[in-house]
Amino acid sequence: MTAAAGTELTTLLGDLIRDVPDFPEPGIVFKDISPLLADHRGFTAAVEALARAGRDDIGAAVVDKVAGIEARGFILAAPVALALGAGFVPVRKAGKLPGAVYSQSCVLEYGEAVLEIHQDALTPADRVLVVDDVLATGGTLEASAELVRRSGAVVHGFAVLIELGFLGGAQRLAAHPLSALLRV
Ligand code: AMP
Repeated sequence: MTAAAGTELTTLLGDLIRDVPDFPEPGIVFKDISPLLADHRGFTAAVEALARAGRDDIGAAVVDKVAGIEARGFILAAPVALALGAGFVPVRKAGKLPGAVYSQSCVLEYGEAVLEIHQDALTPADRVLVVDDVLATGGTLEASAELVRRSGAVVHGFAVLIELGFLGGAQRLAAHPLSALLRV
């Protein structure tokens, strides 16, 4: 299920996310969130809205950890974790984490990646919200969810700023709730 945000938030976010054609390669329209991050009102609204995916109907936090995906996912997931009173867990590109890791490869809208998580970052008692900036084909979030599962923890759901609906990534993530603040 994809939860759309209110009109005011949608407009605010839409105005602060910049389309960069043909980046990082021809044919890709890159969603640049730099203007949003630089705008206190927009950044605050985005973090609060993303954090809603980790709350129940009365607003109580229901997740223990928020996993953020390198690199822009870190910027969003860390304040979301603080807003929820949860811990932050980095999902990093291969070779960056110093300890023992679980690894998972994925194909994304442009290129491929291997994602890793520390083997001791999560426990079976953890419910985890997975956060990133953009959902494109879904490969990145799917691989991240697999890392959470291999860690023995429970995937609570996914939260992203932008879903590129025309790429159909949400279908690959159908096993868990998906919250997208903006869908294009
Ligand atoms: P995917 O695995 O295809 O869903 O790709 C999502 C990952 O790639 C996210 O971590 C995004 O940061 C990045 N990404 C993919 N497509 C775009 C895009 N058009 N604009 C910005 N980031 C993108």
